[in-house]
Amino acid sequence: MQIYSVSMFRSFPLHFGRKEETPDIQKNSTQKTTNTETPFIDTQTVLNMTQKKGERIMKKSIKDLGDIEGKRALVRVDINVPLDADKNVTDDTRIQAILPTINYLKDKGAKIILMAHLGRPKGEWNPEFSLEPVAKYMSDMLGEEVLFVAAPVGKGAEKELENLKDGQIALLENIRFYKAEEAKDDDMTFANELAKLGDFYVNDAFGAAHRNHTSTAKLAKVLKPAVSGLLMEKEIRCLSQALDNPTRPFTAVVGGAKVSSKIGVLENLSDKVDNLIIGGGMAYTFAKANGGHIGNSICEDDQLEVAKAIEKNAAEKGVRLVLPIDVLVTDDFSGNGTNKFVDVNNIPDGFEGVDAGPQTRKEFEDVIKSSKTILMNGPVGAFENPAFAEGTKAVLAAIIDATENGATSVIGGGDSVSAAKKLSDADKYTHVSTGGGASLEFIEGKVLPGVAALDDK
Ligand code: AMP
Repeated sequence: MQIYSVSMFRSFPLHFGRKEETPDIQKNSTQKTTNTETPFIDTQTVLNMTQKKGERIMKKSIKDLGDIEGKRALVRVDINVPLDADKNVTDDTRIQAILPTINYLKDKGAKIILMAHLGRPKGEWNPEFSLEPVAKYMSDMLGEEVLFVAAPVGKGAEKELENLKDGQIALLENIRFYKAEEAKDDDMTFANELAKLGDFYVNDAFGAAHRNHTSTAKLAKVLKPAVSGLLMEKEIRCLSQALDNPTRPFTAVVGGAKVSSKIGVLENLSDKVDNLIIGGGMAYTFAKANGGHIGNSICEDDQLEVAKAIEKNAAEKGVRLVLPIDVLVTDDFSGNGTNKFVDVNNIPDGFEGVDAGPQTRKEFEDVIKSSKTILMNGPVGAFENPAFAEGTKAVLAAIIDATENGATSVIGGGDSVSAAKKLSDADKYTHVSTGGGASLEFIEGKVLPGVAALDDK
């Protein structure tokens, strides 16, 4: 039985494309060519995960559009923000992240129709997941009314949107209230209905780009031009530059609880990095695979062979695998018991490893500080508890230090982003990804349907 397969994928040099004609939105419109204003590097680097013979295919962005004044931009955004019991937005990071796209479209005089999901209503009309409070929040934030459209599909919506003025914003009700949004079939009825609301399609929802849904992928097939927004463009540019064209040495920090959830990441990165730091809960599976005694530490016994294969693969590729030397162990995961530093291979029974020890931190820091590109995916300890957060804090501080000395740093989504925000100044990295699952799949080298569906350059 093949337990672990080493990816055959090899990265090729980036494919730099030509400038092309701006897409024709309305034949008779006076063309205002916006892409001549765009610095060449920006349009060059709009890449996606559609790999043809190892190359990424560049995708068009809103900057490549011609005259869009008066046109209806149907924009998929990721504003799946947390709400408290009184329906107040408690963290508006995702709303802030789409403002560049909104402002760009506004400046160009487009009518902006936002499409989004909130939570997981599973195709049911459930007021608990309504986007109306988000429309209110955005109205207050922007100082102008964001028109809320309660029934996105049908004549009602089209009529409501008829009076939208140039530069005005509307937000459609939760698109996941429709079963057809997430349907895994080829039926394009819902996509065609939504397409009636716009003159062109923009996908700025990187956080949902790994979903093959109507509003994230199918719509791009029926509403043209279909282009990326500025957030999507930046996410793809930063992640793909780090993965495909890193300044070396290139170091990846992979942490988190389980080897099983990061096999794809470890596999793909082994082909690309110079140093692979493995920390967090998954390091104990490696320690046990190497004959260490790991006490009560979390471990996936069914992944021991995988861990060995990853080590073997790294050795064959000349990748330096950096594993913990010493760790902080505890006999009480709440942090109120006995905590002490021990050798990673000699953890007493009754104790579990929860953070990197001082020698490990020093080793991780040295490798990070001597790197020119750093990608972090997963914390190196159970950082949610301040008693176990020092290792992750040290890693983040080293990444910031390296960034200040000219390295490129990318914090790759999910828990790493929570850690970066909680334990450091998140503005100090080159890029902090807004996508959890999407950035994970991107780093795994998978094709993201929401990106693949957009128009090629
Ligand atoms: P993941 O979602 O796989 O990236 O895992 C992130 C989670 O792993 C975070 O909630 C961390 O608290 C947890 N984690 C990291 N290291 C450990 C550890 N040594 N023991 C238990 N949980 C850990």
